[in-house]
Amino acid sequence: MKLIKGGTVISPSGASKADVLIDGETIAALYAPGQAPDGPEVIDATGKYVIPGAIDAHTHMQLPFGGTAASDTFDTGTRAAAIGGTTTIIDFAVQRTGEVVQDGLAAWHAKAAGNCHIDYAFHMILGGVDDDSLKAMDQLVTDEGVTSFKLFMAYPGVFYSDDGQILRAMQKARGNGAMIMMHAENGPAIDVLVKQALERGETDPIFHGLTRPQELEAEATSRAIWLASVAADCPLYIVHLSASKALEQVAAARDLGRNVFAETCPQYLYLTLEDQLGAPGFEGAKWVCSTPLRSKHENHRADLWRGLRTNDLAMVSTDHCPFCMKDQKELGVGDFSKIPNGIGSVEHRVDLLYQGVVDGKLSLARWVETIATTPARMFGLYPKKGIIAPGSDADIVLYDPNGRTRISVETHHMNMDYSAWEGWEIDGSVDTVISRGSVVARGGDYTGHAGHGRFLKRGLSEYLI
Ligand SMILES: [Zn+2]
Repeated sequence: MKLIKGGTVISPSGASKADVLIDGETIAALYAPGQAPDGPEVIDATGKYVIPGAIDAHTHMQLPFGGTAASDTFDTGTRAAAIGGTTTIIDFAVQRTGEVVQDGLAAWHAKAAGNCHIDYAFHMILGGVDDDSLKAMDQLVTDEGVTSFKLFMAYPGVFYSDDGQILRAMQKARGNGAMIMMHAENGPAIDVLVKQALERGETDPIFHGLTRPQELEAEATSRAIWLASVAADCPLYIVHLSASKALEQVAAARDLGRNVFAETCPQYLYLTLEDQLGAPGFEGAKWVCSTPLRSKHENHRADLWRGLRTNDLAMVSTDHCPFCMKDQKELGVGDFSKIPNGIGSVEHRVDLLYQGVVDGKLSLARWVETIATTPARMFGLYPKKGIIAPGSDADIVLYDPNGRTRISVETHHMNMDYSAWEGWEIDGSVDTVISRGSVVARGGDYTGHAGHGRFLKRGLSEYLI
């Protein structure tokens, strides 16, 4: 038994002084201050926030992409996540075109099993929607605990699904209760712009962003929303929403009471096309990701923070997909379209969003909701995960509002040779991280181990009606 004593417990409904009793791997009870029985080992939380372990619902550990693979393994990536206060990830297993869905899932189980430092679950990327993969969707929902399926309106020839395939998958999801997750960018139109840019000799990283204008994100978002409407209001979740016009589409659907949800990522809340992607020379490659960073001269960042407050954006995930500059991002020297797409942030999401609290953009309660509780409810992990309550897993973070975090490649734990957040300072710090009752990080020292993390079978989303 362990007692987390003297802290302030934060939940989506607010803050309260309470002591948290952990029995083995689960939370046994919450007590008013001073009411807990003597005896258990005490973890002093005086002056700290006690929050549910964060859940990152969008990661790509060791994902093959663009002739290389994301540089974090399940081992290095989940260790970094744990140090940063994230105690569950939902990664994306991949079915490549022509591959059996269950084989793709088995391949991701093989990569993750025994290597994870924290609990993990899978979404399934469908790279080829056909009769067999549609049938497989039912089996994954019923037997495998995989209840969400990601489709791509971008990347023709790789992950791309056409509108007919999307509609069929949505109809299947409407039937079995699964969530359709959508990479909403108009890939064929983007490919035309990319080709034209390269023909003009526009090869620098910034053209990655300039050839993916927000209109093509908004158009695809709108199309996905209407297709979901045709599929009897199939649950739809827009991943990595980056732009004001796309947010308008989601907000309009939500105002109509539709089963439409969206996430954004820290990079879209803070970073910009000009300041990062437009950095001199090849430097901007560090921030090549899709959807791309948006212009600071438009209102994207302010709109996304507002969307988080109003729940038009339900939550924040990282889309963690790290590539090193050396030998990986460098594949795109002289041709931005060859730069592997992705940024690594799995270690920093809790801190980066806490800075939003400090800056007056989010409440404490909304911070916890957008990084922990909503991801759990959205993807069928609640109340085992995402809340500090009796019976829930003892995944708990002590967060120090008086701490200070400086982000750097020198100190981060992700397997990357640069940091997308180099030199950023956060007015707070992760103090102690507990995963199913075990202290895995404390005061910057890591005490967990690979193999502690278990696969989580998920239920259906709680947000559907
Ligand atoms: Zn992704």
